[in-house]
Amino acid sequence: MPDIVVIGAGQAGASLVARLRSGGFDGAITLIGEEAVPPYQRPPLSKGYLLGEMALERLYLRPARYYEEAQIDLRLNARVDRIDPAARHVHVGDEVLPYDTLVLTTGSVPRRLPAAIGGALDGVHVVRGLEDVDAMGPRFGPGAKVLIVGGGYIGLEAAAVAAKKGLDVTLVEMADRILQRVAAPETSDFFRKLHRAHGVDIREGVGLDRLLGEGRVTGARLSDGSEIDADFVIVGVGIAPGTALAEAAGLTIDNGIAVDAQGRSSDPAIWAAGDCASFPYREGRLRLESVPNAIDMAECVADNIMGAGKPYVPQPWFWSDQYDVKLQIAGLNIGYDRVITRPGSSDGSASFWYYAGDRLLAVDAMNEPRAYMVGKRLIDAGKSPPASAVADPGTDLKSLLK
Ligand SMILES: Cc1cc2nc3c(=O)[nH]c(=O)nc-3n(C[C@H](O)[C@H](O)[C@H](O)COP(=O)(O)OP(=O)(O)OC[C@H]3O[C@@H](n4cnc5c(N)ncnc54)[C@H](O)[C@@H]3O)c2cc1C
Repeated sequence: MPDIVVIGAGQAGASLVARLRSGGFDGAITLIGEEAVPPYQRPPLSKGYLLGEMALERLYLRPARYYEEAQIDLRLNARVDRIDPAARHVHVGDEVLPYDTLVLTTGSVPRRLPAAIGGALDGVHVVRGLEDVDAMGPRFGPGAKVLIVGGGYIGLEAAAVAAKKGLDVTLVEMADRILQRVAAPETSDFFRKLHRAHGVDIREGVGLDRLLGEGRVTGARLSDGSEIDADFVIVGVGIAPGTALAEAAGLTIDNGIAVDAQGRSSDPAIWAAGDCASFPYREGRLRLESVPNAIDMAECVADNIMGAGKPYVPQPWFWSDQYDVKLQIAGLNIGYDRVITRPGSSDGSASFWYYAGDRLLAVDAMNEPRAYMVGKRLIDAGKSPPASAVADPGTDLKSLLK
């Protein structure tokens, strides 16, 4: 049996090693992670955990004893510095570990603000790992002033937690509208209204000129010339795939570590999965940043390492929690040309259905689990109901499945 080394003990790494063992792989498995704790789920970091409603133990994907029992050599606080693909070695500090098969599940790296505009001041935070959130948690006292830079899901979720905890919240988004990169104007409007109703000062089309303060942040100057005070700042301006190791090892990079349909990189002994990997999709390549993708792709790669020879076909879905609204997204809206609004079944609920011509691509459902569920089943099956039926609140959603 070959030795498998997996770099990155996050969602994809943990899913992959578990699948190898449950699939009957009985060779040596080493899972290397630079963080101090066993693999954990990140979504609660900007939701329940940040709010203080979820204990640390509940974040763990599996209890620590699982790795021991499954004979997975889990190395924590261990950073891989270099891969030597010719010798098939990885370097962890002074230690050199051989591999037959290597998997990269290195996730992504949050974009930070340049030091030249105050990004290195004390009190400037990102939300990627447990350490980041533990560092900012104590700042969430009622009445504190927080500036959130970036109106994507992470920024909006952090804003919701802060507003719920009684902070004074300002969120700036450089683009014309929040969620511009990922959702239709209808969804942006829904969440803008929701946040404003909770007292969040959302400013769109306004960038950050620079952060102010000596040593620690005290405020910010915005691109419209205004200045605001801030006790701390949360930066949610996106992530970049974790490709540094792969790049240094000479692997092909194309918006992430470029893998083939089975998950194999340009080096046949090295595979990749999760946030760090881009895979063939339609005529191009796709990289997804979500838990379902990390799990499904990692499991597919594990199966392929064991010889399944099957392509990875994503069935994308995503969710976000803000206040008492659960947003569920089915499908991918890339290339949509119109959005159909279906009124919600209760106050504060709605669903937006993305079409390209007559083809249903995706559904954003706010407190509408039924619309999400039906939309997902339709999209996974490649079925597209007439837009007029979707828009009609009298249509029983389940009838669309027939
Ligand atoms: C705050 C937050 C909220 C989110 N909310 C949602 C949500 O609601 N729904 C959703 O679907 N997705 C959400 N996501 C995204 C989701 O968590 C990621 O897509 C998912 O974790 C990706 O899994 P991964 O294994 O590819 O990467 P990760 O889980 O990031 O794991 C990568 C691991 O590799 C380690 N690593 C990297 N380089 C090295 C190295 N050289 N040596 C050793 N270890 C290394 C990293 O430290 C990290 O632990 C959220 C993410 C964040 C940060």
